[in-house]
Amino acid sequence: MASVTLEHLSKIYSNGFVSVNDVSLRVDNGEFITLHGPSGCGKSTILRMIGGLEDITSGKIYLSDELLNDILPRDRRLAMAFQNYTLYKHFNAYDNMALGLRLRDFPRNIIDSRVNDAAKLLGISGVLGQKIKALSERDKQKVALGRAIVCQPKVLLVDEDFARQDPERRKEMLCDILEINEELKITVLYVTNDPLEARTLGKKIVFMKDGKITDIG
Ligand code: ADP
Ligand code: MG
Repeated sequence: MASVTLEHLSKIYSNGFVSVNDVSLRVDNGEFITLHGPSGCGKSTILRMIGGLEDITSGKIYLSDELLNDILPRDRRLAMAFQNYTLYKHFNAYDNMALGLRLRDFPRNIIDSRVNDAAKLLGISGVLGQKIKALSERDKQKVALGRAIVCQPKVLLVDEDFARQDPERRKEMLCDILEINEELKITVLYVTNDPLEARTLGKKIVFMKDGKITDIG
């Protein structure tokens, strides 16, 4: 578990466009925060800067007490669920979920228990042996979330495009991330431009417009 603190965070793209304009925000330990605002207001840019996929123009990002600005993306204890699951189609679900742990040289028994626990939480224990290309979209989405959580991130960043295509899948994904937040106590930052969804989640909402926070409710 960890908090995320943004201090006077700004992003100006090379064409001079100010995408994020002096945003300060604290997401507490174990909290679930919804970042909401119209398309183009800078939500994804904030997630990408936290994840280290985008350079920070100015300001600071902390994970608990640790300044993240100069830490490589792979060394940040966070997981990201974005649009492209980048699952390996010819590997089975188990191997896809285990990949990050194998790359970090975790022992086999630990990998096994973490993958099985995540699969149980997400309800995909029955498909672990199947190849990705044979899975439904619903199960692929769950494998992608499973792969994110087996590394035991302190924070999970979820962008709305993770399950945009289909309302059913979206609902399922929201249930999954609520459960991940509650069961595993992982801090969640969730981005959506859908006002109804932001309200139904029943969590703290941070409203954004034109790169700025306009309200917190
Ligand atoms: P949101 O996720 O809220 O829809 P984004 O964070 O993706 O918004 O984008 C915020 C703004 O930054 C948009 O107006 C977008 O056009 C602009 N933007 C995104 N990437 C770039 C880029 N590489 N160069 C210039 N402008 C960009
Ligand atoms: Mg976006």
